[in-house]
Amino acid sequence: MHSIVVDEFRNYYSQLGSKDLEVTDLACRELAFLQFGEQMMIRHTRFLDEVSLRDHLIHKTPAHLYYSSAYYKEPQAPDMNRKGWLGADLVFDVDADHIPTTCKADHDRWRCLECGSEGAGFPPESCLSCGRKRIETTTWVCEKCLDVTKNEVLKLLDEYLIPDFGISLNDVEICFSGHRGYHLHVLTESLRGLASDGRREIADYVRGIGLDQRLHGFMVLNRNGPLIGPDIRDGGWRGRIARSIYAYISRCNVEDLRAVVGSGSAADTICRNKDRILGGITKSPPSWVGLRGVGIERLNRIAGASIKDILCNIDERVTLDTKRLIRYPNSLHGKSGLKASRITYNDLEKFDPLRDAVAFKDGEIKVYVREAPRVRIGNHEIGPLKNVEVVVPKALGIYLICKGAAEPRS
Ligand SMILES: [Zn+2]
Ligand SMILES: [Zn+2]
Repeated sequence: MHSIVVDEFRNYYSQLGSKDLEVTDLACRELAFLQFGEQMMIRHTRFLDEVSLRDHLIHKTPAHLYYSSAYYKEPQAPDMNRKGWLGADLVFDVDADHIPTTCKADHDRWRCLECGSEGAGFPPESCLSCGRKRIETTTWVCEKCLDVTKNEVLKLLDEYLIPDFGISLNDVEICFSGHRGYHLHVLTESLRGLASDGRREIADYVRGIGLDQRLHGFMVLNRNGPLIGPDIRDGGWRGRIARSIYAYISRCNVEDLRAVVGSGSAADTICRNKDRILGGITKSPPSWVGLRGVGIERLNRIAGASIKDILCNIDERVTLDTKRLIRYPNSLHGKSGLKASRITYNDLEKFDPLRDAVAFKDGEIKVYVREAPRVRIGNHEIGPLKNVEVVVPKALGIYLICKGAAEPRS
Protein backbone atom coordinates (compact mmCIF):
# COMPACT_ATOMS: atom_id res chain seq x y z
CA MET A 1 0.00 0.00 0.00
CA HIS A 2 1.10 3.53 -0.67
CA SER A 3 3.00 4.96 2.27
CA ILE A 4 0.74 8.00 2.48
CA VAL A 5 -2.15 5.71 3.50
CA VAL A 6 -0.08 3.91 6.12
CA ASP A 7 1.16 7.26 7.47
CA GLU A 8 -2.36 8.63 7.71
CA PHE A 9 -3.60 5.49 9.47
CA ARG A 10 -0.70 5.74 11.94
CA ASN A 11 -1.41 9.38 12.52
CA TYR A 12 -5.05 8.56 13.22
CA TYR A 13 -4.15 5.94 15.81
CA SER A 14 -1.62 8.18 17.51
CA GLN A 15 -4.32 10.81 18.03
CA LEU A 16 -6.84 8.31 19.35
CA GLY A 17 -7.52 8.24 23.09
CA SER A 18 -7.22 4.83 24.71
CA LYS A 19 -10.85 5.29 25.79
CA ASP A 20 -11.85 5.18 22.12
CA LEU A 21 -10.52 1.63 21.99
CA GLU A 22 -12.44 0.39 25.03
CA VAL A 23 -14.36 -2.84 24.54
CA THR A 24 -15.95 -5.10 27.14
CA ASP A 25 -13.36 -7.47 28.65
CA LEU A 26 -10.61 -6.74 26.14
CA ALA A 27 -8.22 -9.16 27.88
CA CYS A 28 -10.62 -12.06 27.15
CA ARG A 29 -10.82 -11.39 23.41
CA GLU A 30 -8.73 -12.68 20.56
CA LEU A 31 -7.41 -9.85 18.41
CA ALA A 32 -6.45 -10.23 14.78
CA PHE A 33 -4.69 -7.97 12.29
CA LEU A 34 -4.25 -7.77 8.59
CA GLN A 35 -1.23 -5.74 7.58
CA PHE A 36 -1.19 -3.62 4.42
CA GLY A 37 -0.34 -5.70 1.37
CA GLU A 38 -0.56 -9.02 3.25
CA GLN A 39 -2.98 -11.86 2.63
CA MET A 40 -2.50 -13.76 5.87
CA MET A 41 -4.17 -12.55 8.99
CA ILE A 42 -2.14 -12.36 12.18
CA ARG A 43 -4.35 -14.09 14.71
CA HIS A 44 -4.43 -15.28 18.31
CA THR A 45 -3.08 -12.14 19.90
CA ARG A 46 -4.12 -10.73 23.23
CA PHE A 47 -3.91 -7.25 24.73
CA LEU A 48 -4.38 -6.66 28.40
CA ASP A 49 -5.36 -3.03 28.05
CA GLU A 50 -6.23 -0.34 25.53
CA VAL A 51 -2.97 1.55 26.01
CA SER A 52 -0.85 -1.38 24.83
CA LEU A 53 -3.24 -1.96 21.94
CA ARG A 54 -2.92 1.66 20.87
CA ASP A 55 0.88 1.43 21.04
CA HIS A 56 0.74 -1.61 18.81
CA LEU A 57 -1.49 0.20 16.30
CA ILE A 58 0.91 3.12 16.16
CA HIS A 59 3.97 0.91 15.64
CA LYS A 60 2.56 -1.81 13.40
CA THR A 61 -0.35 0.11 11.83
CA PRO A 62 -2.52 -2.61 10.31
CA ALA A 63 -4.95 -2.17 7.43
CA HIS A 64 -7.63 -4.04 9.36
CA LEU A 65 -8.15 -4.79 13.03
CA TYR A 66 -10.58 -7.40 14.34
CA TYR A 67 -11.65 -8.73 17.72
CA SER A 68 -13.50 -11.88 18.61
CA SER A 69 -17.16 -11.82 19.53
CA ALA A 70 -16.10 -14.60 21.92
CA TYR A 71 -14.56 -14.33 25.36
CA TYR A 72 -11.83 -16.85 26.15
CA LYS A 73 -9.76 -17.93 29.11
CA GLU A 74 -6.69 -17.87 26.88
CA PRO A 75 -7.47 -15.83 23.78
CA GLN A 76 -3.85 -16.04 22.62
CA ALA A 77 -3.84 -19.87 22.37
CA PRO A 78 -3.23 -20.79 18.72
CA ASP A 79 -5.44 -23.89 18.93
CA MET A 80 -9.13 -22.90 19.01
CA ASN A 81 -9.91 -25.85 21.30
CA ARG A 82 -7.38 -24.67 23.84
CA LYS A 83 -8.68 -21.13 24.14
CA GLY A 84 -11.34 -22.02 26.70
CA TRP A 85 -14.51 -20.48 25.25
CA LEU A 86 -16.40 -18.56 27.93
CA GLY A 87 -19.21 -17.14 25.83
CA ALA A 88 -19.78 -14.67 23.03
CA ASP A 89 -21.67 -11.48 22.28
CA LEU A 90 -24.69 -11.87 20.05
CA VAL A 91 -23.78 -10.12 16.82
CA PHE A 92 -25.82 -9.00 13.84
CA ASP A 93 -24.28 -7.92 10.57
CA VAL A 94 -26.13 -5.89 7.98
CA ASP A 95 -24.19 -5.41 4.77
CA ALA A 96 -25.22 -3.59 1.59
CA ASP A 97 -23.51 -6.36 -0.38
CA HIS A 98 -26.33 -8.73 0.47
CA ILE A 99 -29.16 -6.36 -0.29
CA PRO A 100 -30.08 -5.90 -3.97
CA THR A 101 -30.67 -2.13 -3.99
CA THR A 102 -31.56 -0.50 -7.32
CA CYS A 103 -28.69 2.00 -7.06
CA LYS A 104 -26.23 -0.87 -7.61
CA ALA A 105 -26.93 -0.44 -11.31
CA ASP A 106 -25.34 3.03 -11.03
CA HIS A 107 -22.17 2.06 -9.17
CA ASP A 108 -21.49 -1.68 -9.39
CA ARG A 109 -20.13 -3.75 -12.25
CA TRP A 110 -19.49 -7.44 -12.78
CA ARG A 111 -17.34 -9.21 -15.32
CA CYS A 112 -17.16 -12.89 -16.22
CA LEU A 113 -13.59 -14.15 -15.93
CA GLU A 114 -14.35 -16.96 -18.39
CA CYS A 115 -15.92 -15.21 -21.36
CA GLY A 116 -15.39 -11.54 -20.54
CA SER A 117 -19.02 -10.50 -20.74
CA GLU A 118 -19.97 -7.83 -18.26
CA GLY A 119 -22.84 -5.88 -16.84
CA ALA A 120 -23.95 -3.30 -14.31
CA GLY A 121 -25.65 -3.81 -10.96
CA PHE A 122 -26.03 -6.75 -8.58
CA PRO A 123 -23.93 -9.65 -9.95
CA PRO A 124 -25.85 -12.63 -11.34
CA GLU A 125 -25.26 -15.98 -9.70
CA SER A 126 -23.75 -17.29 -12.94
CA CYS A 127 -22.66 -15.51 -16.11
CA LEU A 128 -25.59 -14.47 -18.28
CA SER A 129 -23.67 -15.44 -21.47
CA CYS A 130 -21.73 -18.59 -20.63
CA GLY A 131 -23.38 -19.73 -17.41
CA ARG A 132 -20.11 -20.17 -15.58
CA LYS A 133 -19.58 -18.83 -12.10
CA ARG A 134 -16.18 -17.12 -12.05
CA ILE A 135 -17.46 -13.60 -11.72
CA GLU A 136 -15.42 -10.61 -10.67
CA THR A 137 -17.21 -7.67 -9.15
CA THR A 138 -16.37 -4.03 -8.63
CA THR A 139 -18.61 -2.69 -5.90
CA TRP A 140 -19.12 0.72 -4.37
CA VAL A 141 -21.57 2.12 -1.90
CA CYS A 142 -23.69 5.22 -2.05
CA GLU A 143 -25.97 7.07 0.34
CA LYS A 144 -28.91 4.91 -0.73
CA CYS A 145 -27.18 1.59 0.06
CA LEU A 146 -26.08 2.91 3.42
CA ASP A 147 -29.54 4.22 4.27
CA VAL A 148 -31.06 0.85 3.49
CA THR A 149 -28.61 -0.91 5.81
CA LYS A 150 -29.21 1.65 8.55
CA ASN A 151 -32.96 1.09 8.35
CA GLU A 152 -32.37 -2.64 8.75
CA VAL A 153 -30.52 -1.96 12.00
CA LEU A 154 -33.30 0.29 13.30
CA LYS A 155 -35.88 -2.33 12.33
CA LEU A 156 -33.92 -5.06 14.09
CA LEU A 157 -33.82 -3.03 17.29
CA ASP A 158 -37.26 -1.42 17.26
CA GLU A 159 -39.27 -4.34 15.94
CA TYR A 160 -37.49 -7.34 17.44
CA LEU A 161 -34.65 -7.05 19.92
CA ILE A 162 -36.19 -4.44 22.19
CA PRO A 163 -39.90 -5.40 22.22
CA ASP A 164 -39.74 -9.16 21.65
CA PHE A 165 -36.48 -10.13 23.33
CA GLY A 166 -36.47 -7.46 26.02
CA ILE A 167 -32.93 -6.40 25.14
CA SER A 168 -31.93 -3.20 26.89
CA LEU A 169 -30.41 -0.42 24.83
CA ASN A 170 -27.72 -0.22 27.52
CA ASP A 171 -26.52 -3.63 26.37
CA VAL A 172 -26.43 -2.75 22.70
CA GLU A 173 -23.51 -1.38 20.73
CA ILE A 174 -24.04 -0.13 17.22
CA CYS A 175 -21.05 0.28 14.92
CA PHE A 176 -20.69 1.39 11.35
CA SER A 177 -18.60 -1.32 9.67
CA GLY A 178 -16.32 1.25 8.08
CA HIS A 179 -17.40 0.29 4.59
CA ARG A 180 -20.78 -1.09 3.53
CA GLY A 181 -22.96 -1.62 6.58
CA TYR A 182 -23.41 -1.91 10.29
CA HIS A 183 -22.68 -4.30 13.13
CA LEU A 184 -24.90 -4.64 16.14
CA HIS A 185 -23.40 -6.20 19.26
CA VAL A 186 -25.69 -7.40 22.04
CA LEU A 187 -23.63 -7.63 25.23
CA THR A 188 -26.35 -8.99 27.55
CA GLU A 189 -24.58 -11.36 29.91
CA SER A 190 -27.36 -13.93 30.04
CA LEU A 191 -27.05 -14.39 26.26
CA ARG A 192 -23.30 -14.94 26.21
CA GLY A 193 -23.54 -18.68 26.75
CA LEU A 194 -25.93 -19.27 23.84
CA ALA A 195 -24.69 -21.98 21.50
CA SER A 196 -24.97 -21.69 17.73
CA ASP A 197 -28.39 -23.44 17.65
CA GLY A 198 -29.89 -20.87 19.97
CA ARG A 199 -28.42 -18.06 17.90
CA ARG A 200 -29.92 -19.62 14.79
CA GLU A 201 -33.37 -19.51 16.41
CA ILE A 202 -32.94 -15.78 16.97
CA ALA A 203 -31.62 -15.18 13.45
CA ASP A 204 -34.52 -17.17 11.96
CA TYR A 205 -37.00 -15.30 14.12
CA VAL A 206 -35.92 -11.87 12.85
CA ARG A 207 -35.70 -13.14 9.27
CA GLY A 208 -39.15 -14.71 9.45
CA ILE A 209 -37.75 -18.13 8.49
CA GLY A 210 -40.16 -21.00 9.11
CA LEU A 211 -42.91 -18.57 9.95
CA ASP A 212 -46.34 -20.12 9.49
CA GLN A 213 -49.03 -17.45 9.52
CA ARG A 214 -51.61 -20.13 10.37
CA LEU A 215 -50.01 -20.58 13.74
CA HIS A 216 -50.52 -16.95 14.62
CA GLY A 217 -54.16 -16.81 15.40
CA PHE A 218 -56.14 -17.12 12.17
CA MET A 219 -58.91 -19.68 12.21
CA VAL A 220 -62.48 -20.25 11.25
CA LEU A 221 -64.16 -21.57 14.34
CA ASN A 222 -66.48 -23.94 12.50
CA ARG A 223 -67.76 -24.40 9.00
CA ASN A 224 -69.96 -21.35 9.02
CA GLY A 225 -68.47 -19.63 12.04
CA PRO A 226 -66.60 -16.32 12.15
CA LEU A 227 -62.99 -15.81 11.13
CA ILE A 228 -60.91 -14.92 14.14
CA GLY A 229 -57.40 -13.52 14.02
CA PRO A 230 -54.63 -11.72 15.92
CA ASP A 231 -54.85 -8.29 17.51
CA ILE A 232 -52.61 -5.45 16.32
CA ARG A 233 -51.78 -4.88 20.01
CA ASP A 234 -50.49 -8.45 20.45
CA GLY A 235 -46.79 -8.95 21.13
CA GLY A 236 -44.37 -10.86 18.91
CA TRP A 237 -45.22 -12.13 15.49
CA ARG A 238 -49.00 -12.22 16.12
CA GLY A 239 -49.22 -8.46 16.47
CA ARG A 240 -46.66 -7.93 13.75
CA ILE A 241 -48.68 -9.97 11.27
CA ALA A 242 -51.90 -8.14 12.19
CA ARG A 243 -50.21 -4.73 11.83
CA SER A 244 -48.55 -5.73 8.56
CA ILE A 245 -51.82 -6.91 7.03
CA TYR A 246 -53.46 -3.68 8.13
CA ALA A 247 -50.69 -1.61 6.53
CA TYR A 248 -50.67 -3.73 3.40
CA ILE A 249 -54.41 -3.54 2.80
CA SER A 250 -54.30 0.22 3.46
CA ARG A 251 -51.70 0.85 0.76
CA CYS A 252 -52.28 -1.74 -1.95
CA ASN A 253 -54.52 -1.46 -4.98
CA VAL A 254 -56.55 -4.14 -6.70
CA GLU A 255 -53.69 -5.12 -9.07
CA ASP A 256 -51.27 -5.67 -6.16
CA LEU A 257 -53.85 -7.80 -4.43
CA ARG A 258 -54.64 -9.85 -7.54
CA ALA A 259 -50.96 -10.65 -7.89
CA VAL A 260 -51.03 -12.08 -4.38
CA VAL A 261 -54.40 -13.82 -4.13
CA GLY A 262 -54.82 -14.77 -7.80
CA SER A 263 -57.69 -14.03 -10.14
CA GLY A 264 -61.23 -14.26 -8.92
CA SER A 265 -63.27 -11.84 -6.91
CA ALA A 266 -61.29 -11.84 -3.64
CA ALA A 267 -59.12 -8.84 -4.56
CA ASP A 268 -62.14 -6.80 -5.67
CA THR A 269 -64.05 -7.71 -2.53
CA ILE A 270 -61.20 -6.59 -0.31
CA CYS A 271 -60.76 -3.30 -2.13
CA ARG A 272 -64.49 -2.59 -2.12
CA ASN A 273 -64.72 -3.20 1.63
CA LYS A 274 -61.35 -1.70 2.55
CA ASP A 275 -62.64 0.76 5.16
CA ARG A 276 -64.84 -1.78 6.89
CA ILE A 277 -62.02 -4.37 6.94
CA LEU A 278 -59.45 -1.91 8.32
CA GLY A 279 -61.92 -0.63 10.91
CA GLY A 280 -62.52 -4.19 12.07
CA ILE A 281 -58.82 -5.05 12.37
CA THR A 282 -58.19 -2.10 14.71
CA LYS A 283 -61.12 -2.92 17.02
CA SER A 284 -60.48 -4.39 20.45
CA PRO A 285 -61.03 -7.30 20.31
CA PRO A 286 -60.40 -7.28 16.54
CA SER A 287 -62.96 -8.31 14.00
CA TRP A 288 -61.60 -10.05 10.91
CA VAL A 289 -65.07 -10.83 9.66
CA GLY A 290 -64.59 -8.55 6.64
CA LEU A 291 -62.06 -11.06 5.28
CA ARG A 292 -64.21 -14.10 6.01
CA GLY A 293 -65.03 -14.72 2.36
CA VAL A 294 -61.39 -14.51 1.27
CA GLY A 295 -60.53 -17.87 2.79
CA ILE A 296 -57.70 -18.87 5.07
CA GLU A 297 -55.37 -19.87 2.25
CA ARG A 298 -55.59 -16.52 0.48
CA LEU A 299 -55.36 -14.72 3.78
CA ASN A 300 -52.08 -16.53 4.41
CA ARG A 301 -50.78 -15.34 1.07
CA ILE A 302 -51.74 -11.76 1.94
CA ALA A 303 -49.97 -12.14 5.27
CA GLY A 304 -46.88 -13.51 3.47
CA ALA A 305 -46.78 -10.52 1.11
CA SER A 306 -47.46 -8.01 3.85
CA ILE A 307 -44.60 -9.04 6.13
CA LYS A 308 -41.90 -8.82 3.45
CA ASP A 309 -40.75 -5.34 4.45
CA ILE A 310 -40.64 -6.17 8.12
CA LEU A 311 -38.20 -9.08 7.80
CA CYS A 312 -34.59 -8.33 8.73
CA ASN A 313 -31.97 -8.62 6.05
CA ILE A 314 -29.04 -9.82 8.17
CA ASP A 315 -26.08 -12.00 7.25
CA GLU A 316 -27.12 -14.93 9.41
CA ARG A 317 -23.69 -16.60 9.27
CA VAL A 318 -22.32 -13.87 11.50
CA THR A 319 -25.07 -14.31 14.09
CA LEU A 320 -24.66 -18.11 14.23
CA ASP A 321 -20.91 -17.98 14.64
CA THR A 322 -19.85 -18.09 18.30
CA LYS A 323 -16.19 -17.34 17.46
CA ARG A 324 -16.53 -14.63 14.88
CA LEU A 325 -13.83 -12.04 14.26
CA ILE A 326 -15.44 -8.64 13.85
CA ARG A 327 -14.04 -5.27 12.99
CA TYR A 328 -12.80 -3.46 16.07
CA PRO A 329 -14.85 -0.39 17.03
CA ASN A 330 -13.21 2.90 16.05
CA SER A 331 -10.50 1.18 14.01
CA LEU A 332 -9.97 2.18 10.38
CA HIS A 333 -11.17 0.07 7.47
CA GLY A 334 -8.33 -0.61 5.04
CA LYS A 335 -10.65 -0.69 2.05
CA SER A 336 -12.14 2.74 2.65
CA GLY A 337 -10.08 4.65 5.22
CA LEU A 338 -13.35 5.26 7.06
CA LYS A 339 -13.72 4.75 10.78
CA ALA A 340 -15.74 1.84 12.18
CA SER A 341 -17.54 4.40 14.32
CA ARG A 342 -19.58 3.57 17.38
CA ILE A 343 -22.96 5.24 17.24
CA THR A 344 -25.53 5.67 19.97
CA TYR A 345 -29.08 4.63 19.23
CA ASN A 346 -30.23 8.25 19.45
CA ASP A 347 -27.63 9.39 16.91
CA LEU A 348 -28.24 6.59 14.45
CA GLU A 349 -31.13 8.21 12.62
CA LYS A 350 -29.05 11.21 11.56
CA PHE A 351 -25.72 9.38 11.28
CA ASP A 352 -24.21 9.87 7.82
CA PRO A 353 -21.29 7.42 7.44
CA LEU A 354 -19.82 9.29 4.48
CA ARG A 355 -19.51 12.38 6.66
CA ASP A 356 -19.47 11.24 10.29
CA ALA A 357 -17.06 8.29 9.84
CA VAL A 358 -14.46 10.40 8.02
CA ALA A 359 -11.15 10.09 9.85
CA PHE A 360 -8.99 12.52 7.89
CA LYS A 361 -10.43 15.99 8.19
CA ASP A 362 -7.82 18.33 6.80
CA GLY A 363 -5.63 18.72 3.78
CA GLU A 364 -5.75 17.88 0.10
CA ILE A 365 -4.13 15.22 -2.01
CA LYS A 366 -3.46 14.77 -5.72
CA VAL A 367 -4.51 11.40 -7.09
CA TYR A 368 -4.70 9.69 -10.44
CA VAL A 369 -8.13 8.03 -10.72
CA ARG A 370 -8.36 5.01 -13.00
CA GLU A 371 -12.12 4.59 -12.71
CA ALA A 372 -14.72 5.57 -10.16
CA PRO A 373 -18.46 6.20 -10.16
CA ARG A 374 -19.95 9.27 -8.46
CA VAL A 375 -18.45 9.33 -4.98
CA ARG A 376 -19.11 11.63 -2.04
CA ILE A 377 -17.01 11.90 1.10
CA GLY A 378 -17.95 14.67 3.51
CA ASN A 379 -19.35 17.51 1.47
CA HIS A 380 -17.15 16.85 -1.53
CA GLU A 381 -18.51 14.94 -4.49
CA ILE A 382 -16.75 13.79 -7.66
CA GLY A 383 -17.25 11.46 -10.57
CA PRO A 384 -17.89 9.47 -12.48
CA LEU A 385 -14.21 9.72 -13.41
CA LYS A 386 -11.88 7.77 -15.66
CA ASN A 387 -8.14 8.13 -16.15
CA VAL A 388 -7.77 11.64 -14.75
CA GLU A 389 -5.61 13.42 -12.24
CA VAL A 390 -7.51 15.40 -9.61
CA VAL A 391 -6.79 17.29 -6.40
CA VAL A 392 -9.31 16.30 -3.78
CA PRO A 393 -9.77 16.50 0.01
CA LYS A 394 -7.49 14.00 1.74
CA ALA A 395 -10.31 11.78 3.03
CA LEU A 396 -11.75 11.41 -0.45
CA GLY A 397 -8.34 10.73 -2.01
CA ILE A 398 -7.53 8.07 0.58
CA TYR A 399 -10.95 6.53 0.09
CA LEU A 400 -10.27 6.18 -3.65
CA ILE A 401 -6.79 4.77 -3.02
CA CYS A 402 -8.09 2.27 -0.45
CA LYS A 403 -10.83 1.22 -2.88
CA GLY A 404 -8.08 0.44 -5.38
CA ALA A 405 -9.41 2.98 -7.87
CA ALA A 406 -6.67 5.58 -7.63
CA GLU A 407 -3.05 6.18 -6.73
CA PRO A 408 -1.34 9.17 -5.19
CA ARG A 409 0.57 11.64 -7.40
CA SER A 410 3.12 14.06 -6.13
ZN1 LIG B 1 -19.20 -15.83 -19.05
ZN1 LIG C 1 -25.95 2.40 -3.72
